[in-house]
Amino acid sequence: MSSDAPNATPEARDGLLSMNGSAAPHIDTAFLEAIFDTIDLAVAAFDADWRYIYLNDRAEHVLGRTRRAMLGQVFWDDAEAVEPAYAEALRRAMSQRERVITERYSSYSGAWYEVLALPLAPCGLVLTYRDITQRKAAETERDRLLAQTHAARQAAEARAAELDAVFDALTDGAAVYDASGRMLRLNRTLREVMGLDAGAAPLGDTIRERLPRFLPRDEHGRPFTSERFPVTRLLRGEVLDEQHPAEMIARRADGQDRSLNVTGSPLRDSAGHITGAVAIVRDITEQRDLMRELAASEARFRAIFERAAVGLARVGLDGQWIEVNQELCRIVGYPRDELLALTFQDITYPPDLESDLALLRDLSQGRIPSYALEKRYVRKDGSLIWILLTVSLVRDEAGTPLYYISAVEDVEARKRLEAEREALTAAEHTARMAAETSEARLATLVATLPQLILVLTPDSQHITFANARWQEYTGVDPTTAISSQVVARRVYPDDVAAFTAARERAVAAEEPTTMEARFLGADGIYRWFIAHLRPIRGADHVITGWFFSATDIDDLKQTQERLEALTATLEVRVAERTAALEEANRDLDAFAHTAAHDLRAPLRGMEGFAQALIEDYGATLDPLASRYAERIAAAARTMDALIQDLLAYAQLGRADIRPGPVSLAQMITRAREQLAEVIARTGAKITVEEPLPDVWANSVMLQQALLNLLSNALLYVAPDATPEVHISAARREGAGRPWVRLTVSDRGIGIAPEHVERIFQPFERLHGAEAYPGTGIGLATVRRGIERMGGHVGVESEPGLGSRFWIELPEA
Ligand code: ADP
Repeated sequence: MSSDAPNATPEARDGLLSMNGSAAPHIDTAFLEAIFDTIDLAVAAFDADWRYIYLNDRAEHVLGRTRRAMLGQVFWDDAEAVEPAYAEALRRAMSQRERVITERYSSYSGAWYEVLALPLAPCGLVLTYRDITQRKAAETERDRLLAQTHAARQAAEARAAELDAVFDALTDGAAVYDASGRMLRLNRTLREVMGLDAGAAPLGDTIRERLPRFLPRDEHGRPFTSERFPVTRLLRGEVLDEQHPAEMIARRADGQDRSLNVTGSPLRDSAGHITGAVAIVRDITEQRDLMRELAASEARFRAIFERAAVGLARVGLDGQWIEVNQELCRIVGYPRDELLALTFQDITYPPDLESDLALLRDLSQGRIPSYALEKRYVRKDGSLIWILLTVSLVRDEAGTPLYYISAVEDVEARKRLEAEREALTAAEHTARMAAETSEARLATLVATLPQLILVLTPDSQHITFANARWQEYTGVDPTTAISSQVVARRVYPDDVAAFTAARERAVAAEEPTTMEARFLGADGIYRWFIAHLRPIRGADHVITGWFFSATDIDDLKQTQERLEALTATLEVRVAERTAALEEANRDLDAFAHTAAHDLRAPLRGMEGFAQALIEDYGATLDPLASRYAERIAAAARTMDALIQDLLAYAQLGRADIRPGPVSLAQMITRAREQLAEVIARTGAKITVEEPLPDVWANSVMLQQALLNLLSNALLYVAPDATPEVHISAARREGAGRPWVRLTVSDRGIGIAPEHVERIFQPFERLHGAEAYPGTGIGLATVRRGIERMGGHVGVESEPGLGSRFWIELPEA
């Protein structure tokens, strides 16, 4: 900015100069300009058309252009001047001709200005710009601070509300005091503890005012001085923590006393000065009461424990004595401190230890709730002492074992007494045994005998003694019924006469007697007894009574009866057998006789003469005569053979059959072989149905029987018919064993029913020898042989259709 440049237009100069009135002393313009340039204000003046008419030096800074460039220019060309509020203020100053103060910021100088607009006379406007940048900055800073403070206060209030909520929610009572001890705040819990409603809260009270209201006392009931009052202590800077609480008793609004536990700490400002205190108040009334009770019961327990007349101890799980009472110390003879250094195992007599430990294991594993046993301790002086030990286990709430409780009772004296008593009892027993007389022993014997025993008066009419068995059997109490009629009345009616007679005879003759009779038992059943009645004689041989003993022989009798019955049947069987034998013998005798004398002798004659004829006259006889002679001889021989058969039959009754397993199939094959000639001649059809089981028989006899049956089946057919024979066997159960029935069926002439029995008799024939040759002995031989082997024989037949002969033998 050049100082030689003009500051104002000439008219402006005039205007400026006339501002202070024409009466003002004349001041040089240059001088004024110099002043304007010097002052700390920017100055600009306009004419009525808003053209710059004057600008001082500093205005160049504010407006950002040179005076030269601005003079004569219109103010509104300046972009910053058109800011609405600013422009409006200036226009008002111009048009209203009033002084206006406004503000603007110049981006050219970077400063804030307070702009004073003064109307110029007679027209125009002058503006002065005062730099207020610093003031603005201070104002902004102040606003910022104000806002900040507000936010902080709001946060603090929110926090305080939060704290209030927490404060109220505390389960402990809480109160806040100022430095003088006035209560500023107290929470709901404390109000409840003290029984105050919100309105009656002692807010604002001083300690001194509060004391008479709550009557605080220490735990011993002494009133607090305000010095010792917990709040005072806190305000003095003391900290009452959980370890060092203050305790007091205070009276509630309703008059009830409560035990309170007070903790807390002073409140300090940043400089460390105490500004107040916080107290936490816990109602411990119930706890206090409990503690007091506990202490009392603890004391009672202690007294009982210590003064008990029985040894008591708390014992660790490892057996260590934890607590022992006086009596226990006395029992084991150890001073307390020495005993506490030991375990129960240390002082248990070793042989008794294992049983104790076993029970202890059961106890600790919960198998038993407690146990008691007698065992011995080794006392300090080495002597043994018998004790009765009772042990139980104390567990915590979770069931974990804590320790054992043992009760130890001195039973030494009792043990000694027991031993003495045992010794005494033994001695007494021995003495009693020795004292027992032989008579007494006898009585005992009589009492235990299985016989019914009575002792009767000399006339045998009354009972003077009956043993237990008597009473048991008869059900009669001998002490109430002592007449011997009692005995007679219990004899079976059929036996009474004989029984009474025998008794009377014995008594008359003074001789012992024996009789059998049936006696009625208490169960209503008669049993056979054999009774002996025997006189009891005194020293002078005089009869002093009768000894009656009866032995139960019922079982014996029954066995005997059965035996008799058996014997009787045996005799019948023997008789039958004998009859059979006799019959056989008779037959045999008859045949033997006939064979020997009547048959065999003439036969021998026949055969001998026929033989002689051949030998002596063989040359002279014609061939036919010779053949006849030979036939006679042969017939005689055949006849002899028959006689031999008869003898064999007769002997069947006596023969030793000696049976064994025999194959039926084999037997039949053999029989067919022997009959091969007849079979071939007759063209017989023989069928055998398999299987044929083995039988239990004598093979020779069976062979003979089969041969007879088969030959009969081949023989007894109609004259022109061909024999048809079918052989089969079947098994069946009978008489406890399996049997085989062999059937020989034919389609022959059959047998009339009335003859069926006959044909099994010897010499019974139904036909003449001309029609069917035979001896009539075959079937008799079959029957006898089979029956001797234990079997049976039979036939079913229909005349004209055929017969079925069967034999039955045990299966092999
Ligand atoms: P024998 O055959 O020697 O006459 P047996 O004692 O064998 O003697 O027979 C007795 C009688 O029974 C015979 O005479 C016959 O009349 C009758 N008999 C035996 N077997 C048969 C049969 N299979 N069919 C019909 N009759 C028979």
